[in-house]
Amino acid sequence: MVATWFAHCWIVVASSFATAAPIGGDCANCSLTALCAPHQKEEAAAVAGLAAKLKSKDPFDRKATVDKLAELDHARPLGPSAEIAKLVAGTLDDDNHLVRLGSVQALAAKMHPDVAVPALCNALNLTMKALAKMPYGRADWGGGGGAGAGEDNPPPEDPKAIEKRKQRDELNTLAQELVNALTILPDDRSVTALMEMLPQLSRWHEALLTSTAGALVKLRARKGIEVVVQRIKLSPIGDSGSKWGGPDKTGATLRDVLARGLEDAGSEPVPPWSDEEAPDWERWFAKNQKHFLAKLGKLTVEAMQMGDEAGAN
Ligand SMILES: [Zn+2]
Repeated sequence: MVATWFAHCWIVVASSFATAAPIGGDCANCSLTALCAPHQKEEAAAVAGLAAKLKSKDPFDRKATVDKLAELDHARPLGPSAEIAKLVAGTLDDDNHLVRLGSVQALAAKMHPDVAVPALCNALNLTMKALAKMPYGRADWGGGGGAGAGEDNPPPEDPKAIEKRKQRDELNTLAQELVNALTILPDDRSVTALMEMLPQLSRWHEALLTSTAGALVKLRARKGIEVVVQRIKLSPIGDSGSKWGGPDKTGATLRDVLARGLEDAGSEPVPPWSDEEAPDWERWFAKNQKHFLAKLGKLTVEAMQMGDEAGAN
């Protein structure tokens, strides 16, 4: 079951990388477990050359190098290399936003899971910490110096405020990309990172909140589903809004994410949302938890490759 959707997601990711000529591809002396000495040397030289290019001052060069490392890795007859994945993971905190995004996408596209999964989880954790340090302020709303003029917050045209907003937008985009990445890496560490993230998201992060809950539902780990149910239970019922915005629809939205994501899970239908009273979520979860995986374990190269085969069939 896990392998099937995994393969499905992979097709989408794989198509973004061109294929490079594999080192040792047609060589009679290379095997599926080891490169011959000359090809080993050729690969080491290629990796060393790209590792040097990662230090380029030009972010476009660094981004192109990350893509080349991914191509080299995909073309390996031996399967993904932890060494190449480490080089790419080293660019997750690059100064440039586009390099960071490229790095996340490359790692998610079947680079070595022993490196990719913990590196992406850690990056998500750090991204959320950085976002927590940049709360929204009055300068983020309204136009000109109107409503916020004369208050502590600078007006929106203040270069500092503009820079802060740009940084925050980039962090939000990065967090979204990291959530997308972990959604296709079925591993208990992905589940843990997403579980830790969910309570940090409020209704004001609607897209991120929905996709994080969606990722947990898709991974189908029992503890992840339980956290989504908890989040629904904590959401207000029949909220009528406030001066800050319209009614809080988080509960109804996440309930729908859960219902859609579990259509083929074999569990009982998710209780309908009601603006009058909370459904008995404890009863539903207690009765249906057997349909969700107690453990996903660690994602292995073999499990990823099984996903490939399932996708080819
Ligand atoms: Zn060879």
